[in-house]
Amino acid sequence: MGAYFTICSFVYILIFIFFFFSKGSVVNTETKIYKVLIITTAIGLFFDILGYALYINGYPLNSFLYFLVVKTELVYFVAWTFTFAFYIYVISYNKKNIEEKLEHFRKIFHYLLGVFVLITFIIYILPIEFNFANNVVFPMGSSVTLTYLIAGVGILFSIFCAIKNRKNIILFKYTPLFAMAVSMVVIVVVQRLFPDLFLVNFCLSIVVVILYFTIENPDIKLIKELNLAKVQAEKANQAKTEFLSNMSHEIRTPLNAITGFAEALKDEKDLPEKARDDVNDILMASDSLLEIVNGVLDISKIEANKLEIINNNYSPYKMFNDLTTLTKVRIGEKPIELIVKIDETIPKVLYGDHTRVKQVILNILTNAAKYTKEGHIIFKVDSLIKGDICRLIVSVEDTGIGIKRDKIDKLFDKFERLDKDRNTTIEGTGLGLAITKKLVQLMHGQLVVQSIYGKGSKFTVSIDQKIAPSTVILEDTMEVSREELTKGGEVIGKSVLIVDDNKLNIKVATRLLEDYGITVDSCMSGAECLEKVKYIKYDLIFMDDMMPRMSGTETFHKLKEDPNFSTPVVVLTANAIAGMEEKYLSEGFDSYLSKPIERKALDNVINKYLNNE
Ligand code: ADP
Repeated sequence: MGAYFTICSFVYILIFIFFFFSKGSVVNTETKIYKVLIITTAIGLFFDILGYALYINGYPLNSFLYFLVVKTELVYFVAWTFTFAFYIYVISYNKKNIEEKLEHFRKIFHYLLGVFVLITFIIYILPIEFNFANNVVFPMGSSVTLTYLIAGVGILFSIFCAIKNRKNIILFKYTPLFAMAVSMVVIVVVQRLFPDLFLVNFCLSIVVVILYFTIENPDIKLIKELNLAKVQAEKANQAKTEFLSNMSHEIRTPLNAITGFAEALKDEKDLPEKARDDVNDILMASDSLLEIVNGVLDISKIEANKLEIINNNYSPYKMFNDLTTLTKVRIGEKPIELIVKIDETIPKVLYGDHTRVKQVILNILTNAAKYTKEGHIIFKVDSLIKGDICRLIVSVEDTGIGIKRDKIDKLFDKFERLDKDRNTTIEGTGLGLAITKKLVQLMHGQLVVQSIYGKGSKFTVSIDQKIAPSTVILEDTMEVSREELTKGGEVIGKSVLIVDDNKLNIKVATRLLEDYGITVDSCMSGAECLEKVKYIKYDLIFMDDMMPRMSGTETFHKLKEDPNFSTPVVVLTANAIAGMEEKYLSEGFDSYLSKPIERKALDNVINKYLNNE
């Protein structure tokens, strides 16, 4: 009868071992001891069953094999109580320093191991007898007495540790001890009533299973460790973002010189045709480089959750116009017809992050232009107005190379470019759509892709924007060409001061401004600027921000301290990540220009501050 309990327990423990080891757990002292405990239990149960088998098969009680099996069972019992007591000792130990704690446990373990080996030896040499009662064999003798004695001491020691260090033990961790005590009572009572029921091993295996649920939950531990790893990863990510941000700033400065001089060269009247072509190529390559710098910066900001949506009033019509112009430039000479259909019910002024909305739409328009050889691109904007919200539904349909159905999911992975062999001639980084998707998510919009491979694709974006009253006055965005600016002679002879700590930047800006017929003065620090304005009245100041000793912003505030100072100050900076324009304007700067200097933006600034017509 007792054998059935033991066999069940054995099977159960084997399944449990399989489950425990296949699940995986955090490696710490508790789980290590627990592993020893369950394996010990399984070995004990195995010997228990072996003992029964030998007995049933008529092995003589005085045979060496039977003697060995029974003694091993006794040793197992000692091993079990030692491990259990050590476990209770470990969970109740209250030193905080982990290193010290581990060192202490290591010492105790070695000590226990020594004692255990000694006791094992004694158990094997001490005599054993077998007693028959009610047709059941009971091992007896000094080796059995010693075993029970040690087991008793082990259990008492566990209880003592648990009570002494009760403050360090969480209440539910007492459950196995409690189960152990109950088991002891059950064993004594049941064994008296039904002597043929050997319940010891069965009870111990139950305690082992209960213990599993009270050991420091491996999952919780795992989560804690993961959280720690997450914090470290976030720190690394933060460092990466800062690095990229600095790199972007550094790359922009030489890029400013390349584009600036190329722009200036392009306008030279007697430039040979071949050189003009080369200059155009330089400008295109610089644009791509700038796109990459911006892309890498955007993606790292998004990943660091640093990208903010900055809302302002804007004219959607102007934005669609700009987008159409930019797409036409991108299509270039390719035989592609750009069909634009803008819903005329879209309100005149919307409130949203127009820089990001524009970036999203420009990305999919640029892709359409890039991945289409011939045919058409339909750029369509519909609107859905509900209360004060206008849902912009923008679709871009092309007759390009299309995307394989199974690749659509991959589109939005960063650095993922599909069909690489076919697209070797098309420049790109594989960042565009990853950024686009994140931006759309940030603005709570949706992005849908439909495509037939070889035939074409359709990207649809819908974003909700608030409707602003059409009476809102938008920044004057009237665009003028340089010819117009210089024609009337209004700008010619105006004086501009450039403040920048980098000589090359000053050279580029001077070169560009001189084209308008403007008189340019320059200085390389905030202090010099403050000195100069004391004696000279400039019509406009271009101020770099990141300068040693006194930053552009500090210089600007110092300038403003003089109540008579009325010269407009435009910040001209390589600090060009999203949100910077708003930051500088809120500091009080009159306008913002990013490096590399965009010709059109420069035209607008000059028109605004130097064209008095
Ligand atoms: P990039 O254009 O810089 O490679 P994107 O993230 O913008 O990166 O696009 C990822 C990939 O998706 C592209 O490399 C291209 O294979 C595919 N793709 C994007 N838009 C289109 C389109 N309109 N037609 C066909 N393939 C496209």
